[in-house]
Amino acid sequence: MKKMKMVYFFDEGDGKNKKLLGGKGAGLCEMTRLRLPVPPGFTITTEVCKTYYQNNKTLPKSLWSEVKKNIAKLERRTGKKWNSNQNPLLVSVRSGAALSMPGMMDTILNLGLNDSAVESLTKKTNNPRFAWDSYRRFVQLFGKVVFGVNDKKFDEVLDGAKKKQGIHEDSHLSEQSLREVVAQYKQICQDHTGKPFPSHADEQLQLAIRAVFNSWMGERAIVYREKNHITKDIADGTAVNVVAMAFGNMGDDSATGVVFTRSPADGTNKIFGDYLVNAQGEDVVAGVRTPKPVDEMKKELPKGYKLLLDTCKKLERHYKEPQDIEFTIEQGKFYLLQTRSAKMNAVGMIKTSVDMVKEKLITKDRALLRLQPDQLEQMLHKTIDYEKARQHKKVTKGIAASPGAASGVAVFDVKRAVAMGENGAKVILVREETKPEDVPAFFTSVAILTSRGGKTSHAAVVARGMGKPCIVGCSDLKINADAKQATTGDVVIHEGDAITIDGSIGEVYLGEVPTIEPQITDDFRTILSWAQKAKKIGIRANADTPDGAQLARKYGAQGIGLCRTERMFNAKERLGLFVNLIMAKTLEERKLHLQKLQELQKSDFVQILKAMEGYKVTIRLLDPPLHEFLPNPEELINKIHRLEKQGSSQELEEVKILLARAKELAEVNPMMGHRGVRVGVTYPEIYEMQIRAVFEAAAELAKQKVHAHPQIMIPQVGSVAELNHIKQIYNKVKSEIESKHRMRLPINFGTMLEVVRGCLTSGELAQTAEFFSFGTNDLTQAVFSFSREDAEGKFLPEYLEKEILERNPFQTVDVNGVGSLVKIAIANGKAVKPSLEIGVCGEHGGDPNSIKFFHSVGVSYVSASPHRIPIAIVAAAQANLIAKSKPKSKRKRK
Ligand code: PEP
Ligand code: MG
Repeated sequence: MKKMKMVYFFDEGDGKNKKLLGGKGAGLCEMTRLRLPVPPGFTITTEVCKTYYQNNKTLPKSLWSEVKKNIAKLERRTGKKWNSNQNPLLVSVRSGAALSMPGMMDTILNLGLNDSAVESLTKKTNNPRFAWDSYRRFVQLFGKVVFGVNDKKFDEVLDGAKKKQGIHEDSHLSEQSLREVVAQYKQICQDHTGKPFPSHADEQLQLAIRAVFNSWMGERAIVYREKNHITKDIADGTAVNVVAMAFGNMGDDSATGVVFTRSPADGTNKIFGDYLVNAQGEDVVAGVRTPKPVDEMKKELPKGYKLLLDTCKKLERHYKEPQDIEFTIEQGKFYLLQTRSAKMNAVGMIKTSVDMVKEKLITKDRALLRLQPDQLEQMLHKTIDYEKARQHKKVTKGIAASPGAASGVAVFDVKRAVAMGENGAKVILVREETKPEDVPAFFTSVAILTSRGGKTSHAAVVARGMGKPCIVGCSDLKINADAKQATTGDVVIHEGDAITIDGSIGEVYLGEVPTIEPQITDDFRTILSWAQKAKKIGIRANADTPDGAQLARKYGAQGIGLCRTERMFNAKERLGLFVNLIMAKTLEERKLHLQKLQELQKSDFVQILKAMEGYKVTIRLLDPPLHEFLPNPEELINKIHRLEKQGSSQELEEVKILLARAKELAEVNPMMGHRGVRVGVTYPEIYEMQIRAVFEAAAELAKQKVHAHPQIMIPQVGSVAELNHIKQIYNKVKSEIESKHRMRLPINFGTMLEVVRGCLTSGELAQTAEFFSFGTNDLTQAVFSFSREDAEGKFLPEYLEKEILERNPFQTVDVNGVGSLVKIAIANGKAVKPSLEIGVCGEHGGDPNSIKFFHSVGVSYVSASPHRIPIAIVAAAQANLIAKSKPKSKRKRK
């Protein structure tokens, strides 16, 4: 077996191998290759880190001899000597995984110093203040990072020294003060470890290498990886970078700084950042001294400023990305210490994409590929004014379920939320969880906050559909709806108290925090127009109101892939009608209520179809079980107790009947119970009414010469017999309405694929269905046998933490399981009807990673909530661009 190369000198590596060398190491190698002024150094690979963990935290035997060879090379390049008191070689040691990870180890500077080396440095530079300042920094960073000493202890010593000398700035500390500080720092370390502070450079470096590797599994780093979905295939272990020191603290002709080549806040093409004269890197980041804006460098260090500008240009030309760099100027000599792609907010990313195309720096394809589709959501919602938010108390955090920010008064009861909302109050509905019967309050609330549930819980899905900010799973919040209050820690929120929720992050504030309106900039429009052209699959919307349809169209949706008709029954004035229908004793009575509902549904369909004129609108017939429209039995029992006490006999009788019906309809497992097509089979008059409403709406619009294209979709279908059963109703209504209006009404009849059996028998379903649409929410639930609500609230977080699952399958499609079923269903369906239209209307339709998968398996379109449409458009464009860039042979094999 070939021996593993464990260490790369910067001129041996290149920028491509980030997985092996880490982002920082690869960047330093690449800059060395480009002959940019990088101090010499070497990188210990991430493979060594992996081996370290595989071998129970032992470093490979031959590592040290490789390191020493590279140290020798460093000595030759710098003319300095390792562990010497004559011109000592000092290094910085830094971690660096494939992806930049702020949760990991901080940098150690000036490693190699000891009591005699510091004297030599003093002599050589004739600058004792500089030498001792470097030494005290080294001991502090080493103590903190390697030994885990609390930084406060060092700060106390430093503050004491400044006080004693009567000064405020670190840089004004005298040599004598610094000598005393170093002695005390070393004592702090010795007290902490029980051993003298290591003085040999070898021992210092060995300990530092271990500390870097250990930081990979530090709590901060683990949490960071989890939160940012950094899986092992993205970054597995950290590299260690050992770099010859360049000193920014050698006097007033020295400086250090951090600069973005363009503004990360809004993408403006102008360098942006801070610097400090006579300082080392940590000072800029740590905020010990207030740095100056980089513009001032033009006057203060004009030569350095010019070099900085030139370097920024060179880097952008090479990387074709705005960069975030660290630099040091040592007595007028300019050094680059790090470069990486600049992290920017959505506005910045969009502007730089458009600008760099105009500057001919990148192509439109590259401009689209560099975007993170999920980030674009920031552009579409109100955001918290984070500056002003600092004046408000942040009280708790939950799962960010539907983005946007809103302020309002907390209300814990659905009825009161409706009443107060209708009276013009801005209400935030606060519940443990929500149920379909709570939906009327969603309409009258500005935002929703629940203490239970995950990203696909009822509250999350409904709020997203309506584009209202929502936080779920806020488990710290103890809600007592009866007492009209909620507590978190020592804070009590009473009904009527103002709160603000940030649904993009999941944070809850007390009081009314100012918000910032979203802005669709010209640049954003430009990007969307490029993406529309670059994508192959269609993007439709999940929308069930005319407003939702209009918004989706504004964002670029080409049709509606899912209109959930049950949402229309939930509006307050209609719920009563629907309850009457469920309670009706005879078919005649039921038909009477249905007639009224039909009129309402028809008028909704007319408006939605108008808003989407020219595009297809898929109308799904009723899906949830009937009991979900009745009040829950517990509430009814409470009401009965209340009425019994009041002695109100007529209402009491009515509520008792309601309770009996609610109990009759109640199910042990409603998700797998009497819902979807099963309701259509047992209550055919409901489906018939809905089908008739669609045909009547189409007829009315045809007369108005509006190009409406409704199609009817049946949910929860598991067999062709079920589908055929409903098709008969469809056929009957179709011929009836066509002859009534004397016109042909070509309305497609299709099925959802969300039941496992439906997918496996899709060849049979395709005989009847004119289109398929995957309901990946239910399908995921069925394939895993996970109840969506329970999974996210109970065991899923632990599955993710323990890496049993890499991602939440309700957010990103499970390619191996659900994906296999999707592939089978598509193949069988297309074998019967090659031109079958196949869509996806589950939540995954708005998820960029899932869109890439759906693109690859030949789905015709995906359907997403209105606010996810721009994200889906960009993700679909990326999917096509990535597929096109893959070699043909590979594409075929897939
Ligand atoms: C689905 O199951 O994916 C779907 C879209 O239907 P719902 O979420 O309404 O069950
Ligand atoms: Mg479903």
